[in-house]
Amino acid sequence: MQCHDPRRIADSYLGDELLVETNHEVIAHLESCPSCRGELAARRDLRVKLRQAILNAPELQMRPEFAAKLRVQLQAHAERKNLFGMFNGRAVWLAAAACLVIAGAFALRVVQNRRTLTTASQKIADVRRGNSTKKESSPPFGIDTGVASRAVLFGVSETAAGDHQNCAVKFRLEQQPIDIKTAGREYDPAYIGLTNAALQGVRELADQVTFVEAHSCVFETRRFGHIILKHQGRLVSVLVTALDRSSDLSAESTESSKNVDQIVTACPSVGGYQISCFKTNSHAVFVISDIPERGNSAIARALAAPVYEHLARTERHA
Ligand SMILES: [Zn+2]
Ligand SMILES: [Zn+2]
Repeated sequence: MQCHDPRRIADSYLGDELLVETNHEVIAHLESCPSCRGELAARRDLRVKLRQAILNAPELQMRPEFAAKLRVQLQAHAERKNLFGMFNGRAVWLAAAACLVIAGAFALRVVQNRRTLTTASQKIADVRRGNSTKKESSPPFGIDTGVASRAVLFGVSETAAGDHQNCAVKFRLEQQPIDIKTAGREYDPAYIGLTNAALQGVRELADQVTFVEAHSCVFETRRFGHIILKHQGRLVSVLVTALDRSSDLSAESTESSKNVDQIVTACPSVGGYQISCFKTNSHAVFVISDIPERGNSAIARALAAPVYEHLARTERHA
């Protein structure tokens, strides 16, 4: 695919209007082309701003009150005029009615436009929900990592899969990802050194796994430390997120730090993505890709020990 193609179809792509095959071609090209990725990010940014501007435009927000006020004023005016004669009054009423028809038609257009926007975002949400039909899969090797821990992980895994899909694969998060070290200073110290820990873990798979990039991103209000790897041409996300003590942690972690590679469990797959996951006392870690489950969990097990140790160390110092 040539560089001008994604630019030409960027808007259709961002609007989810492309055929599946074309979509795959665009994604494949974007993975290898930083300039098209930048172009697409700029367009996506513009779309988000435009959409927000339309939805928040004060003149659109005021329309119903304005129409009501206009109606009252015209009626009052017409009633006053009515005192001067029947014919005159009727002319004013006709003018008032014409104004109302125009105002009404305009208001209707606004409502219709908004409905189109709502339908579009509804469609995206539906697609996302449709993608998230869960498929039960049992943890590898039948290891029980604790019912409570798994419930916590499963609860966050859909958001993690959404981040993999929207950030690593489609580059269309509403908020631009930020530098992972900056995020480490501002949001979660566990992000500092996380990349090294993960890469140290996958070193044994070095001939199959390559590093793409690391950053911190937000999906559906949840912040992640996001390390993107590649395995045989497929993107693999390593997503680390802090668990909120009050809502996410229904029970204290029961994992021992021995044999940490055995704490890796399989979350139900979401939207065709395999999800291997584990948790520490206050972080959840997800390894997500569309490579077969065995390959995905092999990557998760390879990085589990150093990532677990890294997180446990920062948690002790927190
Ligand atoms: Zn390009
Ligand atoms: Zn990301």
